[in-house]
Amino acid sequence: MQSMIKPLVLASTMALSGAAFAATVACGGAVSFGEGAGKVASAVADRAVDGVCLNAQIIDTVAEGARYASHGEFMSALTRQIDAWRAAGVVSAREAGALTSAAARSNAGRTLGLRVIAFNDFHGNIDGANLSLRSDIDGIYRSTTTGARLPVPAGGVDYMAGLVRRLRDEAAHSAVVSAGDLIGGSPLNSALFHDEPTIETMNLLGLDFDAVGNHEFDEGKDELLRLQHGGCHPTDANSCQGARVGTPSPFEGARFQFLAANVTDSATGRTIFPAYGIREVDGVRVAFIGMTLEGTPSIVTPAGIEGLQFGDEAESANALIGRLRREGVEAVVVLIHEGGVAPGSINGCSGVSGPVVDIVGRLHGAVDLVVTGHTHQAYNCRLPNAEGRAIPVTSAGSFGRLITRIDLTLDRASRDVIGAAAENLLVDRVNYLNTATPIQPDTKITSVVANYNALAEPIANRVIGSITAPITRSANAAGESALGAVIADAQLRATAAPERGGAVVAFMNPGGIRADLTYPSSNAGEGDGQVTYGEAFTVQPFANSLVVKTLTGAQIYALLEQQWALGQPASGRILQVSEGFGYRHSFRPSQSVLGGQYVCPGSATVDGVPVEAGGDYRVTMNSFLASGGDGFGVFNLGRDALGGEVDVDAFTDYFAERSPVAPGARDRIVQVAACG
Ligand SMILES: [Zn+2]
Repeated sequence: MQSMIKPLVLASTMALSGAAFAATVACGGAVSFGEGAGKVASAVADRAVDGVCLNAQIIDTVAEGARYASHGEFMSALTRQIDAWRAAGVVSAREAGALTSAAARSNAGRTLGLRVIAFNDFHGNIDGANLSLRSDIDGIYRSTTTGARLPVPAGGVDYMAGLVRRLRDEAAHSAVVSAGDLIGGSPLNSALFHDEPTIETMNLLGLDFDAVGNHEFDEGKDELLRLQHGGCHPTDANSCQGARVGTPSPFEGARFQFLAANVTDSATGRTIFPAYGIREVDGVRVAFIGMTLEGTPSIVTPAGIEGLQFGDEAESANALIGRLRREGVEAVVVLIHEGGVAPGSINGCSGVSGPVVDIVGRLHGAVDLVVTGHTHQAYNCRLPNAEGRAIPVTSAGSFGRLITRIDLTLDRASRDVIGAAAENLLVDRVNYLNTATPIQPDTKITSVVANYNALAEPIANRVIGSITAPITRSANAAGESALGAVIADAQLRATAAPERGGAVVAFMNPGGIRADLTYPSSNAGEGDGQVTYGEAFTVQPFANSLVVKTLTGAQIYALLEQQWALGQPASGRILQVSEGFGYRHSFRPSQSVLGGQYVCPGSATVDGVPVEAGGDYRVTMNSFLASGGDGFGVFNLGRDALGGEVDVDAFTDYFAERSPVAPGARDRIVQVAACG
């Protein structure tokens, strides 16, 4: 309890935290009681007794703040302390009276603590074996004998659960929350099983709320509803493995609540999940509003969000405040899958930028805390809400390697948040921090993860082919990467036969290429360049299916210009193209502006033959692009769509046929100074 109470009370005046604080602080100012608006300074100067300031002693021994059920209980404990100080000659009778008077007017003992335990962008990273974190500014790295700095092993849902357990044990009241992308873009050991492993282990961890993120919609609304409510996947036999891994069977669904305040089903006009959840703390109700970014439709397979509408983040939250207040709720937490960027310390906020700054600035003054995500950044900010009050705005990086501890102080009378202290904590797998109490992983969760690994392992370790050298996502100046070319070639191969679509060119979005194919080190016996299904999956984890459509030549030119349309990244978003297709462009990152015309007229060719504006071309894309993903609306205009196999299967088949695969010359897309 002590370790919770100290930062709670001190945080209103000091930015420091940690148990060592009380012993090292210099005494100054007046002895004070309470917190926030209820803080009252006495006329008694703070002073050290036995090396500890009176203010700190009050916190340590009287434990003002959240520990007492009533102000009266606090006052009787304090009176005993003051009597002891008088008897010891530490304070005079006059000072004792002044202390009692100030304490009586303060809100000490009229408050409650609620510890919010938060993370974001977990992305199904249930197994921490290959997860690590490095932050030089925070001293989070391991030095090698040569002076190199290596990341520190961190994460794993079993270690997260161990840390969560400890944080809960320290606090009288707590809530565990996630700010979206809990699932989706997951490693094979969760993705193969439709992320049921993530839901089941989060059930065991004790998650309370998950605000939906964009990736929650990867497989569409119906699949997301299944993950909430349980039951087996309608077609995939990999679902419902509970009997083999030690979880309830059939799949039980999430024991936590998905929240979606800004996601409305167009058919019903209602949100697809509750807009908020309530946590009651000793009679004080705290609301957790959850939502995803408004821009979700532009980054999710359109089929996944069909029939859904995504509202403005701040407006969606603000619209709930009146209702919450009528229900007697004053303490409001927003969990939002949108964020910012703040380079530097995981507990800093210097140079913060990004959408969340504007969103927080438009949030109603009643909002007390914002847990954010999506950018995979770690930060610990205070940003002004619409009434100018600086409130904590946090993010815990990604993949469960950090957890944010946020201690809220609630006033029993006003039911509002009157104090908050936040800190990002490392999910330390190896006791790198060298604490007396290393995190103890939850062994039940460890076993469930190991069982899922065992089920996935034969699939992951199957060798699908080989490479002669590293094949990477690194793009040249023109925007082409060797791995992008291989993926496009694999997709064209899978769809070229007339009965498979008769495609002549394939386009691949660069954002869908999630890892490089690395060539093993020169260690003896490891130089064979084998590629496993697990590696292929890591490159293409989204299970998009292939689609073939007919585009006119003019539409192909329009499609290529959309790579530099307004709204794309400043460097453009260059589609990777298959063998036999080529074109020239004059876009130069940092010198060209978005929205111009950059494709050289007449330069696009298929098998050496110029693309004709009026000609018809069968074009392959993945299902994400097929419905206009990444801003490529031209794909929507295609005719005669034909569905194909899953992208990773096409990739696997290609390796089976073409191995060893060598990185290509990256000469399909050519950048020129001027088209001329
Ligand atoms: Zn996201």
